[in-house]
Amino acid sequence: MLKVILKGHESFYGISDILRMFSGTVSEDRDQGFVSAEDAPDITLVNTLEKDGRSFTEVQGTGKRYAFDGPALEPGREVKRSLYIALSAITGMKLPWGCFSGIRPTLVASEEDSAEELTKKYLVREDKAALGFETSREEMRLLELVPHDDLNIYVGVPFCPSRCSYCSFISQDISHHMGRLGEYETALENEIKAIAPYIDRRISTLYMGGGTPTVFSDEQFARLLDCMYENIMIGPGCEVTIEAGRPDTITEYKLDAMRSHGIGRICINPQTMRNETLAKLGRLHTSEDIVRVYEQARERGFEVINMDLIAGLPHETGDDFVESVSKLIKLDPGNITVHTLYKKRRAALSKETVLDREETRGDIDAAVSEGYRLLYEAGYHPYYLYRQKDTGHGLENTGFAKEGTGCLYNVAMMSDARDILSFGAGGMSKRCFEQEGSTSKHRVERCPTVKDVLTYIRGSIEAAERKRAFFGL
Ligand code: SF4
Repeated sequence: MLKVILKGHESFYGISDILRMFSGTVSEDRDQGFVSAEDAPDITLVNTLEKDGRSFTEVQGTGKRYAFDGPALEPGREVKRSLYIALSAITGMKLPWGCFSGIRPTLVASEEDSAEELTKKYLVREDKAALGFETSREEMRLLELVPHDDLNIYVGVPFCPSRCSYCSFISQDISHHMGRLGEYETALENEIKAIAPYIDRRISTLYMGGGTPTVFSDEQFARLLDCMYENIMIGPGCEVTIEAGRPDTITEYKLDAMRSHGIGRICINPQTMRNETLAKLGRLHTSEDIVRVYEQARERGFEVINMDLIAGLPHETGDDFVESVSKLIKLDPGNITVHTLYKKRRAALSKETVLDREETRGDIDAAVSEGYRLLYEAGYHPYYLYRQKDTGHGLENTGFAKEGTGCLYNVAMMSDARDILSFGAGGMSKRCFEQEGSTSKHRVERCPTVKDVLTYIRGSIEAAERKRAFFGL
């Protein structure tokens, strides 16, 4: 077992995050003051924060000490950095985002004056530092377009036509819940009707996501749109995006219904353009279906079409991913969002070896960089970025957009600096309060909605009442 003893501080959360980036499963013993990784060599590290705010990490019993040679960071970041330096030296692994373990590296980047600072202070690899810095500036610019007093709305539909093998969302496979779809749509309408008349703020953005919102029948889908537009004050300047997601749910009727309401943004998400992978993942469509539906949407004049890809899918190589990027670029959608997903083949700190860089590196990192290069070359630029804690090697998800097409909802939602009112099961409503002396940091209060679909169906009116109280409506 690898143990990290905390001395002079109690940053268990941050220390666990850094250890997890190298070792997978981590547990905390707050009473005894350490965090540990089971499937790792027997090493004990002591992570110390001194009274002067400097941190070092020592290998207990050896006198070997690791510390950053330069100015200190604030304590929470300082202790993480010294642990990162120690684990990086022990494993021989340098991670793309250095000692950043959070999901929003662009928030830290927004505090810095240059990409070089991110490399210098946080040991971020140069290409990621440049990406983080550029994206943070674009996020800040776009966030300015979403006034702080406005409300942003999310409508969640946690159903899909089948479940993709890699999915970690709460989405339900409709083959098991077909009868529930109509009930869910009614519950959602009831919730909207119970809150919407009380909303006294302008609405900047509305995003319908999932799951796959177009999983409803034509009639149910049209009814839900009608309910939204009849009850929610969706003004002409409001950005409305519908995540249509999978082409096996998109019909010409639904496309026409969206256009008749003036909806200009839609997501059609292939994840990969390789048919063999799509079949193995359990998706009930081909890449030809993607192209057909994309053309139908283009013919109807949708202004911005977003297409999602995933790098590191099971059954795929880095080359397969790059080929999918090239195919999407040829289609020329306004946005292409690159997600990364792959499991570590072996944690860097495994019992067998602690110096196993080649085995764990994989080719996904290089493929993502090549995909980005192609996107830049085709005129796309990153406009929002976030990370997930369980992504192997700590890569990132990045939304790319052609000039003037970035999705404001995505930026507002990730910023934790704009209020979000969520309808539907599993939604998270947020109120974000400006803090004195800081433009980037907000205090966030959250109001979750129950994830279980049946409980939501039975209690959507109660959910509405809780949200009205939460927003003071
Ligand atoms: S379409 Fe998306 S939400 Fe639905 S099962 Fe697949 S990955 Fe999950």
